[in-house]
Amino acid sequence: MRRRWLFWGCMMIVLGFIIIAGVKWMVSWHASQNWHSPLAGRVIVVDAGHGGPDGGAVGGSTEEKEITLKIAKDVRHYLQEMGALVVMTRDNDTDLSDDDYEGRHKRQDLVRRAELINKTHPDAFISVHLNAIPMPTLHGAQTFYHPKYSENRKLALFIQDSIKRNLGNTTRFAKPISHVYLLKKSEAPSALVEVGFLSNEQERALLVQRDYQKQAAASIGQGVMRYFTNEKVPSD
Ligand SMILES: [Zn+2]
Repeated sequence: MRRRWLFWGCMMIVLGFIIIAGVKWMVSWHASQNWHSPLAGRVIVVDAGHGGPDGGAVGGSTEEKEITLKIAKDVRHYLQEMGALVVMTRDNDTDLSDDDYEGRHKRQDLVRRAELINKTHPDAFISVHLNAIPMPTLHGAQTFYHPKYSENRKLALFIQDSIKRNLGNTTRFAKPISHVYLLKKSEAPSALVEVGFLSNEQERALLVQRDYQKQAAASIGQGVMRYFTNEKVPSD
């Protein structure tokens, strides 16, 4: 009888050690997962500019909406790899207005995008656009922010700095802008990236390439990631 008690006593002790070792392993595994997921627990809204009937800027036969969607999806991929939860304003060729809406579709689309952003309560909001202007020599990516919050400027400085470092296509600075509806309405730290000029032939040739789109997206994603670290804010 006593031997049996001794046996079960030993078994319980061994089992106890196994459980403790298991818990320790799980804690260290979890910590290592977080180590590789710097954006774990962060929610980011990514906006692909334009869509559906609104093609946005045009250069040659290329419409802005096609490229913003590809780059925005690549940004989503990058941020998800870093552990973030990403919500897109659109992930196909549509806008957010109703087909039978009798008012201004663009207005309804933007109002709904703003509602989606603020309803999500994200940690950051990024909008992706391309430029086109009548001066074909202008080129280079530029990040814009609304000056209402200092966090907006900080986020834009990190993104512009990462673009300068990685994409190397620009000497432009992060710039305040007050009249962009989504930046004005967003309650989260926000930035809008004009990834390049469709009106510049050389840049357009790059902007349609998948490799370049992925590189641009990774630069934006890296800027977002650096914003959430304790890294010193880059200067202009
Ligand atoms: Zn645009």
